[in-house]
Amino acid sequence: MIIITQPTVTDAQIDHIVARIEEFGLRSQIMRGESRIVIGVLGPDELIREKPIAAIPGVESVVPVMRSYKLVAQENGTPPPPVSIGGVPFGSGQRVVLVSGPCSVESREQLLSIAKSVKKSGARVLRGGAFKPRTSPYSFQGLGEEGLRLLAEVRAETGLPVTTEIMDTRDLAMIEKYTDCLQIGSRNMQNFALLKEVGRSKLPVLLKRGFSATINDLIMSAEYILSEGNPNVLLCERGIRTFETMTRNTLDLNAVPILKAKTRLPVIVDPTHGIGLRDFIPQMALAAVAAGADGLMIEVHDEPERARSDGEQALRPAVFEDLVRRVRAVAEAVGREA
Ligand code: PEP
Ligand code: MN
Repeated sequence: MIIITQPTVTDAQIDHIVARIEEFGLRSQIMRGESRIVIGVLGPDELIREKPIAAIPGVESVVPVMRSYKLVAQENGTPPPPVSIGGVPFGSGQRVVLVSGPCSVESREQLLSIAKSVKKSGARVLRGGAFKPRTSPYSFQGLGEEGLRLLAEVRAETGLPVTTEIMDTRDLAMIEKYTDCLQIGSRNMQNFALLKEVGRSKLPVLLKRGFSATINDLIMSAEYILSEGNPNVLLCERGIRTFETMTRNTLDLNAVPILKAKTRLPVIVDPTHGIGLRDFIPQMALAAVAAGADGLMIEVHDEPERARSDGEQALRPAVFEDLVRRVRAVAEAVGREA
């Protein structure tokens, strides 16, 4: 950390700043410039970060030199290992992986028919919610464990690995029995108890960005999971709330190259929730591939008008099939494949 002192700082204040730093168990190095005095603070990163150095009289600002997300951060020179969901690798650098399925698991017939069609079109992972985070307590909340059983059955029948949302730490052991990946939804991105719990799981975690979270907040939530010992995290940009009212959310594609540059984790984009309007999901999916996404998560329903959640933003299977063709073309144009 570097301390920039106020232009009016006195020698007595400098002595006081140095004394405080030493009291904290840290070392200091004073650099006197033409118009400013700058003090370098040396010592263990954790110790420096916790100290209220900016509150010492005479200090104008403090500039951290270490990143606060050391596990998630990109390591110089070494390409990060891909993160796999049920044997399907994400973040290999080359492949754009498609995750698709309904918003909610509704019945065996519904899930199986959607799974078969998205697999035929090129999806490699099946999604489906058994525990649904709904704005209203009176809306469909998901089939619970029955929904998980259906996911496992459809996985056995199609060979597609599955991802499903976990909302409650108490459900972890049960959900782990049925799924290949634990999804943390937007509303729970900063549920730190849940992050720590999935951080102790052997399964990969698909962490969706909170709709009011900054890119840094998302990175720090991933750091929680890694700090508990689970390195297998996939980040998902799914749109944030802005002043725009024409769309459900604003898909922040800025996050894709930034997360790719700053972290070692695969980055997936969910254009379905990102824009929330069925007619414009394909365009945003293609833009996400061009922006460098390692995967796409897209909701598909064979009867959107009967869907128990998010029917208005579900693609019909034929539209998804056509989209996959175009995803492949864009991927190829940017030196990748899908
Ligand atoms: C979902 O993917 O089904 C979902 C609920 O998304 P989000 O958490 O991004 O709203
Ligand atoms: Mn949904």
